[in-house]
Amino acid sequence: MPSQPVIVWFRRDLRLQDNPALNEAIRRGSAVVPLYIHCPREQGAWKQGRASQWWLHHALCDLQAQLRQLGLKLVIRSSTNSLDSLRELIRETGAASVFWNRCYEPSIARRDGQIQQELDAQGVRTESFNGSLLLDPQEITNKSGKPFQVFTPFWKHCRALTPARPETLPIAASPTLDPSPESIESLGLLPAIAWDKGIDAFWTPTRRGGIDLLEQAAAKSARYDTQRDIPAVDGTSRLSPYLHFGQISPREFFHAVRKGSNHQENADLGMLRQLYWREFSAHLLYHFPHSQDAALKPEYDLFPWQFHTDHLRAWQRGLTGFPIVDAGMRQLWHTGWMHNRVRMIAGSLLVKHLLQPWQEGARWFWDTLVDADLANNSMGWQWLAGSGADASPYFRIFNPVIQGKKFDPTGDYVRKWIPELAKMPDAHIHTPWDAPPLELAAADVTLGKDYPHPLISHSDGRQRALDAYAQYKLQIANSK
Ligand code: FAD
Repeated sequence: MPSQPVIVWFRRDLRLQDNPALNEAIRRGSAVVPLYIHCPREQGAWKQGRASQWWLHHALCDLQAQLRQLGLKLVIRSSTNSLDSLRELIRETGAASVFWNRCYEPSIARRDGQIQQELDAQGVRTESFNGSLLLDPQEITNKSGKPFQVFTPFWKHCRALTPARPETLPIAASPTLDPSPESIESLGLLPAIAWDKGIDAFWTPTRRGGIDLLEQAAAKSARYDTQRDIPAVDGTSRLSPYLHFGQISPREFFHAVRKGSNHQENADLGMLRQLYWREFSAHLLYHFPHSQDAALKPEYDLFPWQFHTDHLRAWQRGLTGFPIVDAGMRQLWHTGWMHNRVRMIAGSLLVKHLLQPWQEGARWFWDTLVDADLANNSMGWQWLAGSGADASPYFRIFNPVIQGKKFDPTGDYVRKWIPELAKMPDAHIHTPWDAPPLELAAADVTLGKDYPHPLISHSDGRQRALDAYAQYKLQIANSK
């Protein structure tokens, strides 16, 4: 005899497999009411960007189709208050419990805590599960019982614990109830002007698309350490958006990659180590919630950034004059994703040479990345700005020319994303400003017309950043 209905509230876990909240509801033999609430207001300053909305639309359509095969109907609600939507659905369906998988971002965790209290007080049972991380940040502490702030000890701690195997979906689901409908289209997630053609061509934003990449990732993992930094090569998993939206679970990722590579050790594989960077970012954001907008190390909020709208816009458009940076920014705009090595080079140019606040870079990435993830994004940017955990010291400044020559030696990546430079010879593909006039003419490049001069030279940018750092240190000393 099935018990009263259970609402399974989908959020950042848009999958059926290895979904603890859904599995538990089905296991209990309850009638399941799968729900997604779209409530941008509750996301505060970090409402989903446009690229993420595009992904979300397709991920929801795919989830809806998968649920239908189980005989379940996804209930969609557009709302300004998730609690109100839950209460309304509880009234409509007579549900006695609500299950969900936890999100660990500060505003969502706070909201969920409030919802839990309110529903419990109303006599509706709530249960939450961990489906988005290998390890719950609430359960991990260093030897002094405090949150980790440095990656290596965190990783050493975690790699000793083998993550549980992914759960399989119980076979039968009880038929769902049929509450009043709202459509995914009505959420208005797709762009009104079709700027998404490049993204659409590059991605298959479905569970099947994620599984295909996961199978490839297992094969790629053996050569990951030698290829992961070469942006012209498809050497990384490209699973970040699937992990962010929960179409692939971290446990599925971990075990598939480990099995595919026949690796016995827990997390020695380079690709798995990266998965622990994701865990570490979530851990940091959970324990240091201010770091989503402000410096993790608060004294860095005094840094003398120089706001310069034209430079920011040139960077956003891939027109800084540094080919490796511009190629990355255009890859981002075109596909909604940028290779990690190039994220570092492009981000470093913005915060160091151009002295723009890291939050500006984070906001642009937030809007344009399909894998935009609050924890990974703020940690990535703060690492570059020098204000984060484990950050490289401020005076370590990426040289975009050396980085370009080292990681894109034949210029294939630059040529792919900057067609204006397609005919430049290898020798000057990363330094067109140094090319002799005849070489530029042969490549059909007029600097300042077809492709810009650098916004600032590397040596001037580096010196200016170092001077700003010296000024900042003085400010800190004076403020004590
Ligand atoms: P792989 O190399 O295949 O790694 C496997 C998985 O590990 C990734 O899918 C990702 O979930 C995780 N991972 C890998 N590198 C990192 C890292 N450095 N930090 C945290 N997790 C990592 N990643 C995001 O998912 N969302 C973001 O918004 C984001 N913003 C970033 C901003 C900056 C400035 C920088 C420097 C990095 C950012 N990253 C972000 C981290 C990293 O660039 C991407 O996770 C990675 O490029 C995704 O590609 P992949 O799936 O092929 O990674």
